[in-house]
Amino acid sequence: MSTPRFNDPSYQKAGTMVRGALWLMTEVGEGNTFTKEQLRLAFPGVSQIDRRVRDLRDYGWVIRSNTEDASLRPDEQRLVRAGLRVWEPSERRKGGPAALTGKERRAVFERDGYQCVVCGIAGGETYLDREYETAVLSASKRSSAAGDADALHGYVTECRRCKAGDSVGQPVDIDILRANIRALPADDLHRLRRWVERGNRGPTPLDRAWTAYRQLPAGERDRIAQEIG
Ligand SMILES: [Zn+2]
Repeated sequence: MSTPRFNDPSYQKAGTMVRGALWLMTEVGEGNTFTKEQLRLAFPGVSQIDRRVRDLRDYGWVIRSNTEDASLRPDEQRLVRAGLRVWEPSERRKGGPAALTGKERRAVFERDGYQCVVCGIAGGETYLDREYETAVLSASKRSSAAGDADALHGYVTECRRCKAGDSVGQPVDIDILRANIRALPADDLHRLRRWVERGNRGPTPLDRAWTAYRQLPAGERDRIAQEIG
């Protein structure tokens, strides 16, 4: 069955996400890149088209920005792989945003050390490049997660910014990256290898200690601060 065109009149009443998915399939294609500008031109006057396209991640679509793929320019994204055929209602019902209970969501946060698995920021911390913005964490469904067989498999902790694919990072200098990797202590290098294997950052014992410390009431924080000098 061929994919309908995104401007097919019978899909004009479909939601923005559905039309965005059709646009990606028929105008971009798997493996290819697109820019926010191209999206805006294809969907004139549609607000938040970029975010609606990002919502496709909840349906197994793999869309990368330059925070996850350094070969991309800051304004580029790549459709790595299409997911569920969201333009078919029966397929669309198989996906959707994380429908976790509060308890399950906390278990995902706990496992990930209360930090975004993409950029590593902890909930409530401010972004280095945007001091006015603090990180809000959510548990989202990611098709890229592989391995674990537990019920929370497929859910990862992401900050709102990474979830939306908002990347304002500097382009990465690969030689500086190599030099920094060479300079890592053996423990850190070992950890980095595991993160690369998993495709996710996991919390370190240091991260766990820090997030636990931050959750303490002020008085107990002071006590710990004194204890460690
Ligand atoms: Zn993040």
